[in-house]
Amino acid sequence: MALIVQKYGGTSVANPERIKNVAKRVAKFQAQGHQVVVVLSAMSGETNKLIALAKEIQANPDPRELDMIMSTGEQVTIGLLAMALKEIGVKARSYTGGQVKVLTDSTFTKARILSIDEANMRRDLDSGHVVVVAGFQGVDEHGNITTLGRGGSDTSGVALAAALKADECQIYTDVDGVYTTDPRVVPEAKKLDTITFEEMLEMASLGSKVLQIRSVEFAGKYKVKLRVLSSFQEEGEGTLITVEEDKKMEQPIISGIAFNRDEAKLTVLGVPDTPGIAYQILGAIAEANIDVDMIIQNVGHDDTTDFSFTVNRGDFAKAQAILEGVKNKMGAREVTGDSKICKVSAVGVGMRSHPGVASKMFKALADEGINIKMISTSEIKISVVLDEKYLELAVRVLHRTFELDQ
Ligand code: ADP
Ligand code: ASP
Ligand code: MG
Repeated sequence: MALIVQKYGGTSVANPERIKNVAKRVAKFQAQGHQVVVVLSAMSGETNKLIALAKEIQANPDPRELDMIMSTGEQVTIGLLAMALKEIGVKARSYTGGQVKVLTDSTFTKARILSIDEANMRRDLDSGHVVVVAGFQGVDEHGNITTLGRGGSDTSGVALAAALKADECQIYTDVDGVYTTDPRVVPEAKKLDTITFEEMLEMASLGSKVLQIRSVEFAGKYKVKLRVLSSFQEEGEGTLITVEEDKKMEQPIISGIAFNRDEAKLTVLGVPDTPGIAYQILGAIAEANIDVDMIIQNVGHDDTTDFSFTVNRGDFAKAQAILEGVKNKMGAREVTGDSKICKVSAVGVGMRSHPGVASKMFKALADEGINIKMISTSEIKISVVLDEKYLELAVRVLHRTFELDQ
């Protein structure tokens, strides 16, 4: 007998029919003698609808109240699945994050999980129930409802699996595993049987939303066996996220191409070239809880320099306003911005032992006449910032260049 945590995403619970299908799948696992904890997302599109609704009242929604609203999407699906299970004779009980108690910090809209109380779930599992938990949400020490950031149900699933020391955490979604790139952009993309945590972390952080990055971090840290599978197929092993790279096999140099449309670039021009400027600029940005991605400071000329960085597109206007204030304080010349950019990245642990990956990537982009605006590299990835209009082309070209379709 194994204890399995199964997380089903929005498309897998998009309507009553699909919820009934999930119930059948869960019942099948239980009938095989396994204990099952199910973590659910809201019906697909529902979280977006709730956010839009909030914005009709408040253009910049109050974060605490937004979490109150957003968390309701998952409350609907868990109730429906618990009913669907009961309808087919399976004992089931639904829980909100607060009822489990998934304790988080108080960073509304992107809270972090601090601890999970397993007592309720254990008791129910031991009495033969399927436990159905609302993903994406928790509760802070003051009893406020919090949410874990978009795509956060993946993290709920992995965190519950870690807390319960589950044998496996299965992420059921609308594709049958992790692919060499998003199969919706490149139909020739290939499913990977395995991918290392390291690579999956990079892919997720660089925009492959098949898994939320925090779920991968969590799984790596707590050694959760993590698998991505399709909720629409009966058969298939999906993709297993592994700790070790397979030493026996010839490693491909590049394992995948990730991309992110959600980027914006900001530049402060004519910054006095003195110690502390990076801190003055980025300190103000950090204080506003805005995540910064790529950072470039140019070589100084005439005692001034230019300083560029990228942020999430949703934070663009806020960051721009902050920089205007910083500019005036430090006597910089101008703040410019570009919110129509994207980031495309090649990821692979094989890069460590193979030089020349970057030049191959840059040549492939140059051959297509694609201009690179920013570059950043790490041991196992190379990222470029491009004009948004080149996104699909660049992803397809790089996928082909690194022979990922073979
Ligand atoms: P869910 O609602 O089940 O959480 P998501 O939409 O969050 O599903 O994630 C699944 C989607 O991730 C797929 O439909 C696919 O378009 C996208 N995706 C992006 N990159 C990849 C990749 N490398 N492999 C598989 N899917 C990917
Ligand atoms: N419903 C939430 C979202 O759309 C969480 C999730 O689906 O993982 O972001
Ligand atoms: Mg998701």
